[in-house]
Order: sequence, then C-alpha cells, then structure tokens
Amino acid sequence: MAKYIFVTGGVTSSLGKGIISASLAKLLQARGFTVTIQKFDPYINVDPGTLNPYEHGECYVTEDGAETDLDLGHYERFLNIHTSQANNVTTGRIYQTVINKEREGAYLGKTVQVIPHITDEIKRRMKLLGTQGYDIVITEIGGTVGDIESLPFIEAVRQLQWELPDEDCLVVHLTLIPYLSAAKELKTKPTQHSVKLMSENGVNPDIIVCRTEHPLSPEIRRKIALFCNVKQEAVIEAADASTIYEVPLAMMREQLDVICLRKMGLSMGHEPDLRAWKGFLDKLKYPKAKVSIGLIGKYIELQDAYKSILEAFVHAGAVNECKVEVVNIHSEFITPENVDEKLAPLDGLLVAPGFGLRGIEGKITAVRYAREQGLPFFGICLGMQMAAIEFARNVLGLSGAHSTEMDPGTMRLGAYDCDTAPDSLVRKIYGHARVSERHRHRWEFNNTYLDDMERAGLLASGRNPETGLVEVIELPNHPYFIGVQFHPELKSTVENPHPLFVHFIAAARAHAERASSDRKPS
Ligand code: GLN
Repeated sequence: MAKYIFVTGGVTSSLGKGIISASLAKLLQARGFTVTIQKFDPYINVDPGTLNPYEHGECYVTEDGAETDLDLGHYERFLNIHTSQANNVTTGRIYQTVINKEREGAYLGKTVQVIPHITDEIKRRMKLLGTQGYDIVITEIGGTVGDIESLPFIEAVRQLQWELPDEDCLVVHLTLIPYLSAAKELKTKPTQHSVKLMSENGVNPDIIVCRTEHPLSPEIRRKIALFCNVKQEAVIEAADASTIYEVPLAMMREQLDVICLRKMGLSMGHEPDLRAWKGFLDKLKYPKAKVSIGLIGKYIELQDAYKSILEAFVHAGAVNECKVEVVNIHSEFITPENVDEKLAPLDGLLVAPGFGLRGIEGKITAVRYAREQGLPFFGICLGMQMAAIEFARNVLGLSGAHSTEMDPGTMRLGAYDCDTAPDSLVRKIYGHARVSERHRHRWEFNNTYLDDMERAGLLASGRNPETGLVEVIELPNHPYFIGVQFHPELKSTVENPHPLFVHFIAAARAHAERASSDRKPS
C-alpha cells in the first residue's frame, strides 16, 4: 500500500515546489524507499506540447514520448528514475477523459459535474502510480493555493484524506516568508493567509516549508507553528541555495524526511546514503578549470527554455571538475560579419533545439565557424539539422540546401534505438553499439544526400536500426563535432551524467588549454 505526499504552494508561484518535491523524494529514496513524483498542472492545455517556451519553458519528453512539464526533468535528474505519461496530468487531460466518457454514455444519463466526476478522475490519477509498487508517491500540485483553477485539485486532496487511512496521506505546503528590509523583519502574514485559504477548503497542511532569504529564528518558527496549526518541528526552513543540488542536503538538515516518515508511521529506513551526491556537489563547488560554452538559441533570454541542457552542463562540468560558463548567444543576431568576434572567445559551441525558421541562418553561420575553426561543436536536434544543411551548402556546394520545416508533419516522440558505427567518436563515447535516446522532432536527415556527404568527409555515425534514419553525424577530421537528432540532455542525471555532454566538456577543456598555451610566449 503506497503512501501519498501532496506538495502545494502558497503566496506566490516560482517558489520551487518541483525542487522541494524532488529533494524530499531524493532523501526518502536514499533511505531505501521506492519513490516516484508526479505533477498535476491546473491549466487547460491537454499537455504542454504545443505551449510556447515563453509561456512554459522547456517541454520535457519522457521515454514513452509524453510531452510534459519541465519539473519532470528535475524529478528524473534527482532520482535517476524514468517518469512517464502518468507522471504529468493537466486539467485539460482530466476534462478530456471525463468528456470522452460522457460521450460514450459511461455516466448513464447523469449530470456530469466538477464534484464528483472531475474530482473522481483527479483522485483516480493521483492514486494510479500507487498501484505500481512504489512505497511513496509524491504529488506536486501546480499553481498557487487560491487560484480558481487549483480548486478541484485541492478538493480531491481533501476527499482523499477522508478515503485513505489517516497515516497514508500527508500535505506539505511550500510558502514564502518575505523579508521587509525597511522593517528588518521576516513576515509571516502571507503564509498565515495561505494556510487559512487551504483550511477553508478543508485541507490542513501537516508541514510548512518556508522559502526565505534569511534564517528563521525560533521565534518566527513558533509563530508560524501557532498560526498554521502545526508543530514547531514541522516548520521547515528552505533558505536560498547556491545550486538546486544543495537543496536535498538542506532539507536533510531540517529533517523534512524524518518528519514526513514519522507522520506517515513509516520506519526510518537507514540514514540517507548521499555519498555519491555529496561527491558530485564537491566537484561542482570546487572546480579546477573553467570553459566558456556558447549556447546558440532563440529563447536565450529565457533560462527555462533550455533547462535540461543547462543541467546536463552542470553534471558534465562536475565530472570534468570544470566550471561551465554558458554564454547565451541569440541566433538571430549572428551574421557572417560578426561571427568571428562573437565566437572566438568560446571553448565550445552548442547549437540548441528549436522549432520554426526564426534564427536558423544564424545557427548555420555559427556551425560553419565551429567546423572551419576546429571549435568543439555539439548540435542537438535542430542543431544537428543545421549542421547537415551547413555541410551541404558549404562543403558540397548545394547552395539551396534547407529544411522543409514549414510543411506539416507528425512528431517522432520518445525513445528510439540508435546503432553507432564502429570506429566512430560516438561509439567510443557511449562504449557500446546500440543506444536508446529520446526524440521530439518532425524532420529528418535527407538520406538522398548521404553518400555525397560521406564522400565529402561527414560520417553518419548513428542510424536507426529499423528505418535507417540518420540519428548522429560527426566530422572525423575535427577535434569534436557531433550532431544528434535526439535529445541526450533529457537523460542526463546527477548519478548518470550524459557521456555526450561529458566528452563535449572534456573537448572544450582541451580546447581552452590549447588556446591558453598558444597565447603563452614560447
Ligand atoms: N524543428 C525541428 C524538427 O521538427 C527540430 C526539433 C527540435 O529541435 N526539437 O525536426
């Protein structure tokens, strides 16, 4: 029988519910429990697949091809487990299921209502992963308490608390304790109000996690406990951390896991074994070298759009004991005239995934620079497609080479096998022939040109075993030039940093060392 922990948010959005949920899950996992996390999003889109990155940040793709919220990326990176379609549910999906059932006549002529039909469907999905052998299922409820669209989810939690045995359900409320610098004081009132809102909806949080820029004094903790109807030990301080990967350790110091287990009547398991995690953090915090990587994209002003790539750099940097400084470069502003000046200071270039034609000429110009100058290059999805076009145009002389991006097509989504070529760089990096990576794209490398491209020095070093589609290209006569049709960033975790990122950063580090020895007078 699984236990359910619900994580709600109050006062404001962007408090980091995903990171708190993932950190709590990490601690419970490190004590020997099997844990999964799911996210319920209150918006009406059926999934975030069609949402603009400006609205929603990166769309994270799971093994089974679900297009999901980027918090699922944090869950996978922290827990080193795979999530699936079942781990992300939106209001749109709930309504779609209920309306389809209604059309099929499943409600036998009854009036279909928010309560009980919508809340029943929410509860069914909340409990779904609980039947799959997990000890603990953590459910993050998106949005902020008090939003109209969150209400059915809070109501579902209220009902579940009645339906399940007392000890099987726990509510953690994440809130903000703002600091008023004029008064030099932390303020608890917004938190009091948000907890009051929850209790008006029939849900009393068991644990209050407080985001704060200053330490919570015992006095403040007492006050929060008193007004929010929890024990003082259940008031948890979540101070700002220098990296999200510190948060599990901060939560361990605050004993968030211990308090949860005690309230759920579970034995403590063993002390959390976080040796590997701490080893990673040490390397992350005390790097021995630094590389500058240009991230060429069109959403560069928006960090969330490339979340998984940025995190994969953090993992790969730690392995290489190297700080990865990411230089965001807007693809729309790269021209043949300014490309030298923009890219010369870099140690490596990553051309980002993307959709639509905006900014792709700048990407092609950047690829050309990397190819001709021997700058380590890593192209992901659209980035690989741009590398193929650049090669076709400038090496084969096919000046009209382009993408048919504007035609409609269906999406290749989720995990596909890829066979790597013997003697290729990718084979060496992966260390084995068959790999599996996740996809999210409509267009493919055009095999009509493959022979010509290979004769001119490009190697199709990864192919889909069933369709022959080109999944990886590389340039053997280049220090590091790899383009991949899939998204390796989605599978990089703290415990399993992705080898393509690890080797890319190693190549960038070698480039930086070469560049600095070239500068030294001999
Ligand atoms: N727009 C390209 C395609 O659909 C690349 C997609 C991507 O980079 N994820 O194939």
